[in-house]
Amino acid sequence: MNSSETLQEVAKQVSVCEKCSLHFSRKLAVPGEGPANSEIMFIGEGPGFYENEQGRPFVGQAGKLLDDLLAAIHLKRADVFITNVVKCRPPGNRDPLPDELAACSDYLDRQIEAIQPRIIVTLGRYSMAKFLPNARISDVHGQAAWVKGRLVVPMYHPAAALHQPSLKPALEKDFTRLPEYIKQANNAQQAARPPEKKNEPEKLPEKSNNEPTQLSLF
Ligand code: URA
Ligand code: SF4
Repeated sequence: MNSSETLQEVAKQVSVCEKCSLHFSRKLAVPGEGPANSEIMFIGEGPGFYENEQGRPFVGQAGKLLDDLLAAIHLKRADVFITNVVKCRPPGNRDPLPDELAACSDYLDRQIEAIQPRIIVTLGRYSMAKFLPNARISDVHGQAAWVKGRLVVPMYHPAAALHQPSLKPALEKDFTRLPEYIKQANNAQQAARPPEKKNEPEKLPEKSNNEPTQLSLF
């Protein structure tokens, strides 16, 4: 199965999933969307009211802010993959519970495995905790960290910045660092590339899975 087929398969399974109790109250599951070869993947928390109605991620107010933040660094929604740690709306937009996060994590893992993004941007505490379990968002937001051979950049959730306007400048500033991080991630990838052999199709190097988690000093 190629990566877009895997993504389609995940989306199909998510749409009928009953692995946790969030399926009782959902209208539409929200698997996430974007190109299968996205360099950047954004991972939010879970669908809200409008996402649950439409089956698409970040289509409400927080999504509008996300679009603006992307536009400021000359990216469009269509350039990136956007998803969440839980694919069904928690009732009343409450926080996802540990058993719901655990039940849903396999879908996200398969999406990451299929896309192999250069950079993962986590939006909010719950997606940060998947990669940086002991970090505090107020300490580490905007700082890239290598996690299992991939650059992870934790950021405040756009909805948090809407509720608490004092967070918005930090979120905007953190976004402006993304182009530099993308370059760094691409350079690291290039450096890991084995010397090219003639007459062989070009292969991307395997990404290492055993690097320690370490906050970078970029
Ligand atoms: N908030 C999220 O975390 N995800 C969405 O898809 C929409 C709002
Ligand atoms: Fe399945 Fe995830 Fe929806 Fe729970 S939140 S029902 S695990 S898709």
